[in-house]
Amino acid sequence: MEQKPFIPFSRPWIDETEIEAVSQVLESKWISTGGRVREFERAFAEYLRVKHAIAVSSCTAALHLSLVVTGISVGDEVITTPYTFTATAEAIRYVGAKPVFVDICADTLNIDVTKIEQAITPKTKAIMPVHIAGFPCEMDTIREICDANKLVLIDDAAHAIPTEYKGHYIGALGDLSAFSFYANKNLTTGEGGMITTNDDTLAKPLRTMRLHGIDKDAWSRQSKRTMWRYDITTEGYKYNMTDIQAAMGICQLMKLNKQHERRQNFAHIYQTELEKFSQIKTPTIPENPAEHSWHLYMIQLQNGDRDDFVDAMREENIECSVHYIPLHLFDFYQKQYGYSVGDFPNAESVFERVVSLPLHPGLTENDIHTVIDTIGNLLSS
Ligand SMILES: *Cc1c(COP(=O)(O)O)cnc(C)c1O
Repeated sequence: MEQKPFIPFSRPWIDETEIEAVSQVLESKWISTGGRVREFERAFAEYLRVKHAIAVSSCTAALHLSLVVTGISVGDEVITTPYTFTATAEAIRYVGAKPVFVDICADTLNIDVTKIEQAITPKTKAIMPVHIAGFPCEMDTIREICDANKLVLIDDAAHAIPTEYKGHYIGALGDLSAFSFYANKNLTTGEGGMITTNDDTLAKPLRTMRLHGIDKDAWSRQSKRTMWRYDITTEGYKYNMTDIQAAMGICQLMKLNKQHERRQNFAHIYQTELEKFSQIKTPTIPENPAEHSWHLYMIQLQNGDRDDFVDAMREENIECSVHYIPLHLFDFYQKQYGYSVGDFPNAESVFERVVSLPLHPGLTENDIHTVIDTIGNLLSS
């Protein structure tokens, strides 16, 4: 029998524009933080209709700096979800604070806002929601809880570009929002991240902190006579983005709506066809479907073994993935914070059944139908 073509789970959407833009940066010989980073930040802020965008080296760095700049430190608690990538809680640990997990809603897979208040203690300083797969969290309710309890709202928006919530983009609703441009994200620079905020008093120190606490970056110094002179005005970190990454980011941002249309279309096809299978729970969709970024398309198997399913798909040359192993099931989180199996039943039961299907703009409708047909054959055999 003819070998079926391989359908990868995820691939960056790169073409000649990125290659050309990166080559220009290399030829210019200004390869670290400079004009391209400024340009990317301006375009990113404009796209999200938010006042400030501060480019950094990763989303993990963006989350870390957001906690530093809002004064969260040793002994504090930050409320977040166990149903996320480890980076979310890892950043909380960087400042010596404790990640306090709150279980998720079984349908949206986002933090259950009705359970947040009971997790608040005098040590709680911030809430860090994650828009899983690109489904917007209930930002109005989270904002109310933050205001009532004087908490900072830092959202992990790694999946949420472009995600909308009641007419605003995610990135304009938190006190600070953190984006990821890792290789598999909707907008990629290989590695990279962005902090967005409408707060001038947070944006200014963030621009300094991301590059060693130096008051002016090398780019603005080079035009001055005493270009070697600088001051260290805040605590600093080595979290700056390079012009090589930013050049790629600018191209990716220009293609963002186009890639979103493709993801939406594929998700719609998956949804329409997979709803016909009683053995599959398709993902919950926002009331306004356009709000979803469709970073991931996550189904839940109603019966049968999830690992067997993923293996069987792989046999058919279709690569699936699983998001996420809940953080409280990991050895480190159990040892460090005393979490254990059974603590967050919704997160655990979703994890047992969940499968992420291939979804990226480089696929074709044909590929999506191949995935659907293969699932159909597997379920009937
Ligand atoms: C990818 C991801 C991160 C980390 O992003 P980096 O840019 O690799 O640091 C954080 N949170 C979530 C939910 C992610 O998916």
